[in-house]
Amino acid sequence: MNLQLAEVEKHQALGVKPSILTLRFDHLQQWLKEQGEPSFRASQIYQWLYEKRVTSFEEMSNLSKDLRGKLANDFTLDTLKLITSQTSSDGTIKFLFELQDGYSIETVVMRHNYGNSVCVTTQVGCRLGCTFCASTLGGLKRNLQAGEIVAQVLEAQRHMDQQDERVSSVVVMGIGEPFDNFDPLMDFLKIINHDKGLNIGARHITVSTSGVVPKIYQFADEKLQINFAVSLHAPDTETRSRLMPVNRAYPLDQLMESLDYYIEQTGRRVTFEYGLFGSVNDTSEHAKQLAKLIKNMKCHVNLIPVNEVLERDYVRTPKEQIDEFEKTLKDEGINVTVRREQGHDIDAACGQLRAKERQEETRG
Ligand code: SF4
Repeated sequence: MNLQLAEVEKHQALGVKPSILTLRFDHLQQWLKEQGEPSFRASQIYQWLYEKRVTSFEEMSNLSKDLRGKLANDFTLDTLKLITSQTSSDGTIKFLFELQDGYSIETVVMRHNYGNSVCVTTQVGCRLGCTFCASTLGGLKRNLQAGEIVAQVLEAQRHMDQQDERVSSVVVMGIGEPFDNFDPLMDFLKIINHDKGLNIGARHITVSTSGVVPKIYQFADEKLQINFAVSLHAPDTETRSRLMPVNRAYPLDQLMESLDYYIEQTGRRVTFEYGLFGSVNDTSEHAKQLAKLIKNMKCHVNLIPVNEVLERDYVRTPKEQIDEFEKTLKDEGINVTVRREQGHDIDAACGQLRAKERQEETRG
């Protein structure tokens, strides 16, 4: 096979097969060409994968036996095994999946009145060390391949097929820093957005970063019309460094400059995620500083009352203070909402289910 796909070649060097879900539509066409097959087969294969959602190449009945054999020879179709799931009283479902190499990842389905949204994980663990996050406690184990991210959406859709419902939006806000796994992330976005794939509209996809500045420039240059969120969590560089060590590598002023560039290139607004941590970043003074930092910027602020994390010391901000923070921003002319909490009665904070599973494994 003469495919110029780093991921595929890496797998072959290791003697393992890549998942077919890792292939973008144009890459699949390229592979077919190398097999001497017409390019329209790519549409047929995508239809089997993403519309009919088959679980084996054998089921692709309008392909020749020979082509099904070649597919099975070069690729796998099974990437995720369900270990457990939890369903919250508000309908939020949290899945814990096992990857082929035994690592586990989380995927969350959230129910909104405007549709069902899936929150995907991009890495096994994370190296960025945000001090409020359980997912970073064990460090980064490895990056996910595009196909392993796609498979999370596909599995969520399979689950929803049972209720005749559809995944209407995707948020890349699960475990890991998406921009730390940039190329597979871009492939993932193209696969789920493709009209022959899961056909999730660009404006129904959101990518969130903790602020990896060089990748923000690269992302801006892609000029994708998807939603873009940045975890800000503090209006000054000192508090931000305390919460997010990534701020030491890419300080706040550099981050803001890169976001100006993003807005200029794409014409799109930025959403700032701002987690409220009791007595750390949640006073009216912080709100005023935040308003000053982002004034006149094409943006929106999403305030997140954070869940307490078992392994960390942060406490929740009282309701009245959340209201006060919101009001201060509004008075300063900032576009702001408070995120509705979901899955509060299950382990819904990023990484909690996986951390709990690990503890149980250790205990067992
Ligand atoms: S919040 Fe996100 S970027 Fe920060 S350590 Fe956790 S997973 Fe990584």
